[in-house]
Formats: sequence, C-alpha cells, structure tokens
Amino acid sequence: MTASSPPPLRWYGWGDRDTVPPPGLLRLLDQELGVRDEVVAPPVPLDQVRLPESALSDRLRRRLAAAVGAVNLGRDSEDRLRHAAGRSYLDLLALRAGRVDEAPDAVVHAGSVQEIARVLKVCSEDGCAVVPYGGGTSVVGGVAPHHAGHHALVSLALDRLDAVVDVDEESLLATLQAGMRGPAVEAKMAQRGLTLGHFPQSFEYASVGGFAATRSAGQASSGYGRFDEMVRGLTLVAPRGELALRANPPNAAGPSVLQIALGSEGTLGVITDVTVRVRPRARLLHYAAWSFAHIDSGVAALRELVLRHRVPDVTRLSDAEETRVSLAMAGDGAATRVARRYLTMRGHAGGCLAILGWEGAGADIGARKRLAVQVLRRHGAVALGTAPGRAWLHSRFHAPYLRDALLDRGLLVETLETASTWVRLPSVRDAVIAALQTALGQRGTPPLVGYHISHVYPEGASLYFTVLARQEDGRQVEQWREAKRAATDAIMRAGGALTHHHAVGLDHAPWMPGQVGTVGIDAIRALRSALDPAGIMNPGKLIPYPVSDSNR
Ligand SMILES: Cc1cc2nc3c(=O)[nH]c(=O)nc-3n(C[C@H](O)[C@H](O)[C@H](O)COP(=O)(O)OP(=O)(O)OC[C@H]3O[C@@H](n4cnc5c(N)ncnc54)[C@H](O)[C@@H]3O)c2cc1C
Repeated sequence: MTASSPPPLRWYGWGDRDTVPPPGLLRLLDQELGVRDEVVAPPVPLDQVRLPESALSDRLRRRLAAAVGAVNLGRDSEDRLRHAAGRSYLDLLALRAGRVDEAPDAVVHAGSVQEIARVLKVCSEDGCAVVPYGGGTSVVGGVAPHHAGHHALVSLALDRLDAVVDVDEESLLATLQAGMRGPAVEAKMAQRGLTLGHFPQSFEYASVGGFAATRSAGQASSGYGRFDEMVRGLTLVAPRGELALRANPPNAAGPSVLQIALGSEGTLGVITDVTVRVRPRARLLHYAAWSFAHIDSGVAALRELVLRHRVPDVTRLSDAEETRVSLAMAGDGAATRVARRYLTMRGHAGGCLAILGWEGAGADIGARKRLAVQVLRRHGAVALGTAPGRAWLHSRFHAPYLRDALLDRGLLVETLETASTWVRLPSVRDAVIAALQTALGQRGTPPLVGYHISHVYPEGASLYFTVLARQEDGRQVEQWREAKRAATDAIMRAGGALTHHHAVGLDHAPWMPGQVGTVGIDAIRALRSALDPAGIMNPGKLIPYPVSDSNR
C-alpha cells in the first residue's frame, strides 16, 4: 500500500473499516421503514466461507505459472474469494452469507503485455475462460466468474500494471497502465500540476482499465467529460493479437476502433494501457449549494445551463426525497444545519438540493459562476451558501462505506441508473419510481426511492436512483431481482438508455437486444469472434447468454 492507495477492500464490502450510521438516518429508517438500530444480519466469518473446488488441471496450472511466474498465480481461497464478485447489493448479500456458487479457479496477476498475451494464448488453447479484473467495483456482474460451460475460469487481475507510462505535458496527454487506481493517478498527475478529473464515487478502488472498459462517468463529468471522452488512445491485447491505437486528436480514419474497445467490458480482450487527456490542476475550487422549490424548475435550469454553455464542472440536482434522506445521512454537522435552516427560511423545506462546483484558475471561475447564477435565479433557485457545497466535496466518496453498516441492520440499499432525452426524462423517471414502489411495496412497507441528475448533455441527462427498503426475510435475493427487473423493463418501455455509466455486465445483458437491436447484437458477436476466436473472454457478459456463445 502506498500513500496514494487506500487499504484493500474488505472481502465482503467497501473500505476497510466499520462506519457508524448517523443518528438522523437511523431515526428515519426506524420511523419510515421499521428498520431498527440492531445488527441482525452480520457477515459470516471469513473462515466459514466455502468456495467450489478449483477445477484447474495440473497442466493448465503449470502453463499459467510459466506465463506469469508461479508467484503470480493465486490459487489460495482468499485470493479466489477476493476475485469472485463485484460490489452490487446482490454481490454483497452473497458474500456476507458466505454463499459463493462460482469462483475463479485461479487468479492470474499479470504484469506486462507479454505476460497477458501468453495467458490468453494458453487459455485459448485450453478453452479456459478469462475474466479481466481491475478494481472489482462492477455493480452489474461484470467480474462475475461465470463459467458459461467452460471447464475452468481464471480471473486476470491487473493490479501489477500500475505505472505511469508517459506524460506529454505539451499535448496534455498521459499514458497510464490499466491497473492504476484513481488516487494513484491523481497523486502522480499532481506532481506535475495536472489532473485527470475523473471522480466516480468508486474512485478510490476502481482502475483506469475498468473506467475505459465500462465507459465510466465521474462526478465532474460536466466539466471534465466522461471517461470515454477523455481517452485518445489505448492498447488492447486480444487472444487474436494486439490492438495498439496511438493517441491522436479526433480524426476521420474510418469507424472508430477506439470506440469499439471502449465499453467492451473485457469481452474483446484486455486493455493494458490508456492514453488520456489531462488538464492543468485547478487552483481554485468553488462549491456551493442551491435549492429549487420543485424538481421541474431544477431540471429546466440544468437544461438551460448546458444549452447556454454555462454548466458548472460538477452539476448535481437531487429530488425532494433524495434531499431529505441525504440531509439525514449527512448527520448534524454545521453544513447540514446551515442547509436545513436556509431551506426552511427560503420556503424550500421539502425542496430539491443542487450541488454546483466550479474548478479553475480563479478569475475565470468568477465569470463562469456569475453567468450560471443568472440562469439559476431565473428558475427560482436560492443560494444556500458554500458550507454545504464544501461538505459535499469533502464527503463525496463516503456513502459506500455506510452500506455495510446498513446491510448489517437488514436494509436493502441499492442504486440503478439510466439516461434519457430531456423530452422523455419525466416519463422515464416516473416509470422507474412507480415500478420500484410497486415491486418493493407490494409485500410490506413502501420503500424510499429518491433520485438525482448528475450528468447533463445538450440532448438530455442521467437519472440515478437510490432505493432503501426493509429486507424481506428469507427472500432478499428475489425481492431485489424482481424490483430490478421491473425497473429495467420500465426504463426500456419508456425509452431510456439501458445504462448511463454502470455498464452492461451479466445483469443488463438480457436487455441488450432492446438497446442495440438484433443486428447490433450480431455485430458485437462478430467482433468477439474476430478478436477472440475461442470465445474465452468474459463469457455471458455484454450480450445475452447463451445467444452470445452459441455460435462460437
Ligand atoms: C460504490 C460504487 C460507486 C460507483 N460509482 C460509480 C460512478 O460514480 N461512476 C461510474 O461510472 N461507475 C461507478 N461505479 C461502477 C464501477 O465503479 C465502474 O464501472 C468502474 O469503471 C469499474 O472499474 P473497475 O476497475 O472496478 O472494473 P472491474 O469491476 O474490475 O471491471 C468492470 C468490467 O470491466 C472489465 N475490465 C476491467 N478492467 C479491464 C481491462 N483492463 N481490460 C478489459 N476489461 C476490463 C471487467 O471484466 C468487467 O467486465 C460504482 C461502483 C460502486 C461499487
């Protein structure tokens, strides 16, 4: 562990420590969901977790050890367990219960392009499936060790690929190895007065290769762009060979092969390095909170901000329900008290909180902010000051740490997301909320469902929902599966995108034909066959199984 990297994720959750839920949140959960402040569902001790026997043959083990060095072939149970799941609610339920139905038969820690090429050759010849593993923070089953009929499966961990390859300070491009995590990238860039500016909530643990493979979007995407917009070149090692795409400005050289690699979710090959656009590090950060009496005026303000090129670098608008729960979650610190007092004073109690952040050199922030404020005021927004804005900035990676403590207390806590054009946004939003309320409310206490918009485009925006509900005893898995299925059906029926940034993985794959059409599925399948003739790369992900694998 270096100063810039957090301690390893604990095997069943997030971070490395327990977090105590704030009293305000515990009160709200008790009063509205009947969830008491008692640990009713703790994780089983690590030594009680039973993994399926490793199916690695001696021959394959010897060949993999020769490819990466015996010391880099992880076969002990803890290494296999640590690569057996991502971090969705269902992943966490399974891990905490010690219920691991599928695990990688080994973990291969590869440290170079050559080692990865050798591993893919060995696995292609053997028919062993390969799951690329970056930070393991997928929430859609992207790293699930789904054997899909293969006699063995290895997790290809990229943690040894953790160096900066090159920084071109004149062109403002940095080439980063795929296994680097968010904090390490920012620490290295800071040494040169630069920033990447990619801050998803999973920043501390997710990797550069994962960002590219899932087309991730960070909290500052309005200012710095989505990750797929930042990427200018990359190397992808496929079983068929190496795809080395040199960094260049946007160009007209045929269909973008770069875009094919982005979002490929480990199904075409392994991204080993990525060349990304970087920016001079902001000298000044100005974060402030605003409120809107109603979500519709907030949405109209965001639309006008983006259309008039006045959008702040961080733009995040919560609906009334999410505002209420976030204020309870934020505890009783000074910033929360200020936000609550102002919301009440300005007649916005029950209103919608917006966090807006400007980052830059100084003078330009003032000018950009003044222009944005004109738009905000025209839509009835009132300023709540900088204290809640700074509090948000300070705590923006904290929420996932709370999740383990809430699961201990028997709470269902999960998120899901989509994107939509401005015209369809209200109907997509209403359809998802209704689907979740119906699915989760039919057998007991209605759930709490709130949402925020945090990525805006001239044509539309993302919608990100957070769900809190009382777990149904004995049917926790079915309870969420039914709700998630209903919500995803609702998104597709209402014309939303299958996913805005969580990606497809195993969980969304059944809906991919609805997103890209059957011809689109065939095109993806053809790409997979071209780059991965033996069909070993992350089987069952991205396009539905068994359709995806039946023609191989
Ligand atoms: C608490 C929490 C908050 C989150 N917040 C956000 C957010 O704000 N924004 C956002 O976009 N996402 C978010 N996510 C989702 C997740 O962090 C992103 O999808 C992230 O990009 C995954 O990166 P990773 O390195 O962890 O990838 P992994 O989970 O290891 O892998 C994800 C997928 O990419 C493939 N893959 C990984 N590395 C490579 C590689 N080098 N080459 C080829 N394929 C590869 C894997 O096989 C898998 O299919 C969040 C997740 C959690 C748990």
